[in-house]
Amino acid sequence: MSKLEKFEVDCLVIGGGVSGIAIARELSSKFDNIFLIERNLHIAQETSSRNSEVIHAGIYYDHGSLKSKLCLKGKELLYKYLEERKIEFNRCGKYILSSNDEESETLNSIYENGLTCGVDDLTYDNSLKSKYPFLSYKEALFSPSTGIFDSHSFIHSLSRDFQILGGNILLGNETLNVEQSSKGYEVLIQDKNTENQFVVITNVLVNSAGLNAVHIADLVNEGNTYQEEFVKGEYYIYQGKEKLENLIYPTPSKNSLGLHATIDLGEGIRFGPSAYVVDEIDYNLSLDQKSLFLKAVQSYWPSIQAEDLTPGYSGIRPNLKGIKDFVIDSGTVSDNQYVNVLGYASPGLTSSLALGIEVSNLIE
Ligand SMILES: Cc1cc2nc3c(=O)[nH]c(=O)nc-3n(C[C@H](O)[C@H](O)[C@H](O)COP(=O)(O)OP(=O)(O)OC[C@H]3O[C@@H](n4cnc5c(N)ncnc54)[C@H](O)[C@@H]3O)c2cc1C
Repeated sequence: MSKLEKFEVDCLVIGGGVSGIAIARELSSKFDNIFLIERNLHIAQETSSRNSEVIHAGIYYDHGSLKSKLCLKGKELLYKYLEERKIEFNRCGKYILSSNDEESETLNSIYENGLTCGVDDLTYDNSLKSKYPFLSYKEALFSPSTGIFDSHSFIHSLSRDFQILGGNILLGNETLNVEQSSKGYEVLIQDKNTENQFVVITNVLVNSAGLNAVHIADLVNEGNTYQEEFVKGEYYIYQGKEKLENLIYPTPSKNSLGLHATIDLGEGIRFGPSAYVVDEIDYNLSLDQKSLFLKAVQSYWPSIQAEDLTPGYSGIRPNLKGIKDFVIDSGTVSDNQYVNVLGYASPGLTSSLALGIEVSNLIE
């Protein structure tokens, strides 16, 4: 890296998705010279724009887990932020449906888990039959604090906050390598606009690179043992005539919250996401999976037919092998501090403002 131009900064954040931007925004009050780099030409082009845009209530995650803590705190902060900034949201609530006795038991454990985690507004509500006669279910658990929001405006608002507070965003700049020297982390970056390479030297490095975060963690921390597992989720758009005012979820499965029906702020309905492990990042929909998809939806909405569903989009969960929770891996080597944000899948949008505070508290 010796012949390349070198720049020194106080703090460098890698990744311009919701996690990197929320962290950078929070850190901007601690550092005068803080940069965020994003390899795409615009912020939030990857997982942060390929999801359900649901504000999760925090009922599924194990008590004491990072997901539980950040989701509950993040939900409150998010609703407050959206209200203050006049960003569109709808606290529409969601129903989780069981279809048999076994699923009803799971529903009950979600209810109990919610209570243990401090979510005390869940109720059983079987009035759905009159509201949505086309749904088939045994029991319905209602979560009134679940909602939907305009996540794009939210992320752009956070990025404006960061820049107003003095932060700098470099778009189209990709981290190629990270080395440690006596001066700090030497981060090799390629400006994709010009193909020029340069080095940024920093004592504080935050890796919030989403699907690429484990790869960067390997460069930052030689002892990294976390391994990624990408789980793809596909969405289909509903073309039928029924309307929903709430979100409808099936009972969750081992890998996902289930193929739910989500309304958007324009009252359209989409179904998804499915969940299957993939080796590479390819956002095309595998249409051969559509019949399985349809079957899952029909388990609670039997009248839906293949022609009611048109292909939508997909997202990929940046999961970690064998670990259900978010991981914030941080450490100090000499005077240098690093933070790797790993496994930051759902409920990552909901948790983002709380994540920013959590990471900021780790950094001196
Ligand atoms: C199918 C699906 C549904 C979801 N639904 C919800 C939901 O309803 N509610 C909710 O709360 N959460 C949901 N989530 C989770 C949420 O979307 C994610 O937790 C969140 O968007 C992750 O943000 P991120 O910033 O960590 O990652 P990303 O958005 O992927 O951002 C990482 C950024 O890092 C950049 N980057 C990577 N490598 C480099 C490099 N070498 N140099 C420079 N930049 C780099 C990428 O270009 C990218 O922009 C869902 C996730 C999925 C997959």
